[in-house]
Amino acid sequence: MNPRQRRAWAALDIGPAWVRRHAPRPVPPSAGKAEATVEERPPEGAAARVPAQVREAVPATVLPGPGKPPAGSGIAGADLSTLDLDALRQRVAECRACRLCESRTQTVFGVGDTNAHWMVVGEAPGAEEDRLGEPFVGQAGRLLDAMLAAVGLGRDRGVYIANVLKCRPPGNRNPAPEEVERCAPYLRRQVELLRPKLILVVGRFAAQTLLGTEASIASLRGRVHRYRAGDLDVPVVVTYHPAYLLRDRHEDKARCWEDLCLARASAGPRG
Ligand code: URA
Repeated sequence: MNPRQRRAWAALDIGPAWVRRHAPRPVPPSAGKAEATVEERPPEGAAARVPAQVREAVPATVLPGPGKPPAGSGIAGADLSTLDLDALRQRVAECRACRLCESRTQTVFGVGDTNAHWMVVGEAPGAEEDRLGEPFVGQAGRLLDAMLAAVGLGRDRGVYIANVLKCRPPGNRNPAPEEVERCAPYLRRQVELLRPKLILVVGRFAAQTLLGTEASIASLRGRVHRYRAGDLDVPVVVTYHPAYLLRDRHEDKARCWEDLCLARASAGPRG
């Protein structure tokens, strides 16, 4: 293990928590059905054993479809299908489709490797992201970087990071449904342009938005969903939001590690 991975694994509390290969870790019943099937950590340096669910990918409804622009949606509802990534970034920067444009410092479009194999989707910018214009740059972002480093990835190495919302909801409140509806076309076009091999969704809000469900994280994680749009059919793995994991959720950090291994197994070989 190299020093960077050692630091990343330590951030995820993985290091001191190794268990014997054939000694399943007890998982609390409250964690949900999917988790109960994950029985062991992957051996150091080896690919994780792929849980049975990876073979049983479930169909998913995806982000709200193209359809008609919602009333008063302005720019967001307009046709984005001809825009490349730079033009889309510019369109987002000018967006006034919802009231979040009034309180933002700047829009937060996305960051990373535009030939990325993985796309990470979070919820919405927080204060730091609003200030710096880049997703996941606060404390949660540092943990996300550590999580990605643990599987040999980073925002400059094989990963592109974006949020469902491109503007910060004031006071970090939950995004409102109409804000999601107006912003979702931007994320959909980002996915279309980036064509990732795997989408890792962090947190309940992003998972529910991307998969069109109200299900809990506990029930969504631990298996592979699909994002289907046009000719795209991308595996989606759901895990906990790093901000949640920062609250000393040791058991959930272990589950997050399992999710990362599932994502790695589902992404296929790196091109
Ligand atoms: N949380 C998110 O979901 N996204 C960010 O960019 C930062 C924090």
